Amino acid sequence: VVVRSLVELRGKYPLEVLTDAGVLPNYAFPEPGVTLRAMIEQDRDPEARRNADPPGAKKRRPTKRWESREYLRPASSALREFAPFNTFYAEGRHLKVTDLDLGTPERPSVSPWRFCPVCDHAEPAGTSTAPPRCPRCATPGWDDAGQRHELVAFRVARSFTSQHESLTVDASDDREEVRYRLADLIDVRPEHWGGAKASTSPLFGVELLHGLTLREVNFGPEDDREDTARVADKSVPAKGFVVCPECGRVQQSARDPGEGERADLSAHAVHCARRRGTSVRKELLSVWLAREVKSEAIRLLLPAATVDVDGARSAFRAALMLGLRRKFRGRPMHLEVKATSEPVTDRGDARRTFLVLYDAVPGGTGYLRELWRTDGLRECLALALEVLERCACRHDPERDGCYRCLLGHHTAFEKVRPSRRRAVDLLRDALGAWSVLTEVLTLSEVSVDTLLESELERRFVAVLQRHVTERGGTWTPTVHHGKSECARLTLGDETWLLEPQVDVAVSTGAVHHCRPDFVLWSQREGVLPLAVFCDGFEYHAHPGEAAGRIGDDFDKRAALLASERWRVWSITWADLKRFEGSAAEPTPCLFETVHDPTLSTLLGRVGTSLARDLHREDAMRTLVTWLRTPDEAAWRGYACALLLASLMGSAPVSHSALDAAEDALWTMPARGELPVLAGAGDALGVARRMGDVGMVARIPREAVRQLQWGALRAVLRLFDEAPRRADEGFRASWRALLLGWNLLQFHPRVAVISTEQDRASQRDLALLAEMVSEGAPVDDQWASVFDLVDGACEALARALLAASAPVPVVGEDVTQGGRVVGTAELAWPAAKVGVFLDAVDVPGWLTFGPTADVSRVCEAVKERSATG
Ligand SMILES: [Zn+2]
Ligand SMILES: [Zn+2]
Ligand SMILES: [Zn+2]
Repeated sequence: VVVRSLVELRGKYPLEVLTDAGVLPNYAFPEPGVTLRAMIEQDRDPEARRNADPPGAKKRRPTKRWESREYLRPASSALREFAPFNTFYAEGRHLKVTDLDLGTPERPSVSPWRFCPVCDHAEPAGTSTAPPRCPRCATPGWDDAGQRHELVAFRVARSFTSQHESLTVDASDDREEVRYRLADLIDVRPEHWGGAKASTSPLFGVELLHGLTLREVNFGPEDDREDTARVADKSVPAKGFVVCPECGRVQQSARDPGEGERADLSAHAVHCARRRGTSVRKELLSVWLAREVKSEAIRLLLPAATVDVDGARSAFRAALMLGLRRKFRGRPMHLEVKATSEPVTDRGDARRTFLVLYDAVPGGTGYLRELWRTDGLRECLALALEVLERCACRHDPERDGCYRCLLGHHTAFEKVRPSRRRAVDLLRDALGAWSVLTEVLTLSEVSVDTLLESELERRFVAVLQRHVTERGGTWTPTVHHGKSECARLTLGDETWLLEPQVDVAVSTGAVHHCRPDFVLWSQREGVLPLAVFCDGFEYHAHPGEAAGRIGDDFDKRAALLASERWRVWSITWADLKRFEGSAAEPTPCLFETVHDPTLSTLLGRVGTSLARDLHREDAMRTLVTWLRTPDEAAWRGYACALLLASLMGSAPVSHSALDAAEDALWTMPARGELPVLAGAGDALGVARRMGDVGMVARIPREAVRQLQWGALRAVLRLFDEAPRRADEGFRASWRALLLGWNLLQFHPRVAVISTEQDRASQRDLALLAEMVSEGAPVDDQWASVFDLVDGACEALARALLAASAPVPVVGEDVTQGGRVVGTAELAWPAAKVGVFLDAVDVPGWLTFGPTADVSRVCEAVKERSATG
């Protein structure tokens, strides 16, 4: 054994020999390695030989023509170090990798595989036809020819070089490591699940996985951008490495066509049939290289799905490595940290982002199972946090991490440098979440919707900031109300303060609480604050679920508008993408049919300077336009012109037909057809449905003649009942309505409603708005009612006024046998009808609560007045 070892020692690094002989524990060299066979052609220059022989020495036997050497490296590093075009440095030699071992016809090491363009799934291609969709994630394109590629199980590489070449230091390519496009394909299936724990807010999770295959693929030189393929959501070189199927020589000319003829000569091994021109029966092969280990793993779900995923992954990965090193007082060599992600079904381009802690010893050492059982990972993260929070570099505002803390753990293959601040935030969130982690089946099914909402908010701020600075405005981070995430910004002549997460309470009779994602406070007197809502479709529409959130969204926005103290803007992902110029989906518009010249004319008539095509823009574009020109009159004019333009060209109809259509739109239980506007009359109006949006808009012809634009009135309804929300077209309708509402909010007589709202109370609010906008005189009696009445009954009182109820008495003590038994907030003593804040039982009286139905109260008062 010793003799054999010594023989091997000549060709290998000592560490590897010792490991192979079992002297060192096997985790120092966990998986079967890759061998580089170097053939070095000996220098036969007589001059050189004379110099090599010391004078007086015995004449040596003629030098062997070829000298062979073997080097063994772990597959994890060999996938780069021994990849074609790379140069391996050993024993003072530069050995360029020139050939791949493709096996024998009986035992080939190359075979065709099929790769999913979106997820990490890959499988041997086989001979039968592939199904059209990926068997794992159902993405179409699985059967595309481009998804099939030759894969080499990487075990042996070769280097053919001359003594002269191997000793020459060529300044141009020396030390310049070839960079490759590598990816880890980690396809987690139910048979791997070994227990998982997760939290959705903040998003975090850990999962133990058994018998999981790690497949790492080298797709070829990174700078090869000519022809790309899509694998696991990454763009990779389609060509990979081009090799001769007979001799395995890698075709240099394929990489560098400039090499031309010189390359041609060395394109095949000496023994290759192609070199002699006797065989051209096979096409050149285009291959990718792969290593594969089946072992145990723990994966971590990171709180990043669409925004700055690279930054989060880089920071968390470095922190995890730091923690492992601290816990084990050294680097556990057999643990690799890999990055992977999975598509989230029906969530656009959002992905679940993972780090996978992998035991590179085939089968696993049991180490990770133990780490899982003892919650050792939590300890690792806590140790890392301790270092990061205390590192001296935190005092230097110019630095964000140093080599004493995080940067030493930055792998060269990670695109983004890890940020200490980001790592601290991530670790605090993860450790905070740890105590509330709940058991789940697998991390592959944890909802990321809450995360997507907060990412949308971050993206909104980033997009707004970029716009402001690109347009020569200023953006100054500032602290406001104790919140450090605020900013003061200027656009044109306007200055705004951006504040996130503001609790707002408005009273429209009843008090409504809401928390807009942002409030933009104008720094100019008289301009209303703007509540911005960033809405992710899935989080708000809940497609496929019994109830959505849209009704509630609409209640809150309508209440803010009805208070007349707020402006409201809704922003979606698609708006930000469109604004940034990367929108695939078109911006839907409720006013598609509006005739442009008509709109231009009307905009001139109402006297607004806003651009005609504002209604075709995304919500981010209209928002920055408002921030620049917050001129209520101009925007009201635009809203009027837009509504008017949608009525123009239709034949005059009767008010009663419009009443019926309006009533139907308010009351129909679910999406249906609106009544046809039949019968000529003296109103202009439309009643139409566009997808899942219904609209009735109207104006008396007389008002048009007298230029009384304020007489315009419109109701828009989103049909958000469960079957509609599950429909593919609903997303566009939802967005179209939000876009329309952003513009139409400036006209007070526009009501926006949804099926899942309490439409009756919304209708009361709309009636109230009617009264206000028509400037109907509120007589002194009613005015004093509003002065005196408790806030809880104010909405009801206004609705009563709108419904022409008799004026009530406020705060009437109701007596029984001379004793006060209750105080009616609103009372009609003659009719013995009262509205009480608390439920009371007063004999002879009909009592209501503050949320009573207006029409029932009115009827009761009228009936009992008549009979009493
Ligand atoms: Zn797939
Ligand atoms: Zn060949
Ligand atoms: Zn540091």
